[in-house]
Amino acid sequence: MATIKLALSAGIMALAAAIAPASAQTAYPAKSITLVVPAAAGGPTDTVARLIAESMGKTLGQSVIVENVGGAGGTIGMARVSKAAPDGYTVAIWHIAHATAPALYDSLKYNPVNDFDHIGRITDVPMTLVSKTAVAAKDVKELIDWIRGEKGKVTYGHAGIGSASHLCTLVLMRELKIEMTGVGYRGTGPAMNDLLGGQFDVMCDQTTNTTNQIKEGRIKGYAVTTKAKVSSVPNLPTLDSGAIPGFEVSAWHAMWAPKGLPKQATDKLVAALQAALKDPKVIGRFADLGTEPVATNLATPDALKSQIASEVKRWDAVIKAAGVKAN
Ligand code: ASP
Repeated sequence: MATIKLALSAGIMALAAAIAPASAQTAYPAKSITLVVPAAAGGPTDTVARLIAESMGKTLGQSVIVENVGGAGGTIGMARVSKAAPDGYTVAIWHIAHATAPALYDSLKYNPVNDFDHIGRITDVPMTLVSKTAVAAKDVKELIDWIRGEKGKVTYGHAGIGSASHLCTLVLMRELKIEMTGVGYRGTGPAMNDLLGGQFDVMCDQTTNTTNQIKEGRIKGYAVTTKAKVSSVPNLPTLDSGAIPGFEVSAWHAMWAPKGLPKQATDKLVAALQAALKDPKVIGRFADLGTEPVATNLATPDALKSQIASEVKRWDAVIKAAGVKAN
């Protein structure tokens, strides 16, 4: 009798042991998640990412820890994410530059569409044309006249070839037939520090990085790059309404993961991202900085996948026509 009891309980224990590790393995997330930002800390993508990370962490019950991996217009960080284990513990938040990279970087080691799982779009951030305070120009027209008169000597800051700040200035220079000299950074966080210090002259950057600096008079704001005015900087005219009719550039941001995530991880990441986009704290901070979350139907893997595929084609044409190459 005693032997049978022992055998039975041993059997039950073996069964329990067989079940326990399996359920522990599938309980995602079981540890903190690394969120790669392929730009320096303190910049606009970093600002968006940290807000989203905090909110998603609450929903997922695990910390989402931002790691800044800047350089080469974001391609270093995205290459790292494309090669990471597809287990849901490494994700990235990046922006429009993910779509411009293939046209610019011949040495790109990943395909932005096929080598990633697409989690969802987050926000479309307007950009602003700004300068250091020492620039005398009082409005966009004076600024453009000054840049034109300096014949290439005016300097502009950007976050690497293909970054949003680089693209915005590129389109601007092409439309206005003006030249400036670029100064590259690992992100526009450090670029902003140098603009505040007067080390270069102008920049086109997201409102998430420029709104407070403009409001506090630490830099000069000239115009916004969207067709509509932006509520966080209501005094700035649109480039479209004055200097460059038709001009429109904004930096959409989204979340990606390495290709091949387990369905459970994808589902939980998508649900947590969508919850973050409805989080009043995220909505409030976004509004302060001149942006808002995208509609929920855009914050999905399918919508992001088709967006990135069409944006890669769109920018390939623009970049080839401009004759720009990063290497
Ligand atoms: N705003 C940057 C860009 O120009 C990137 C960043 O630092 O977030 O792409």
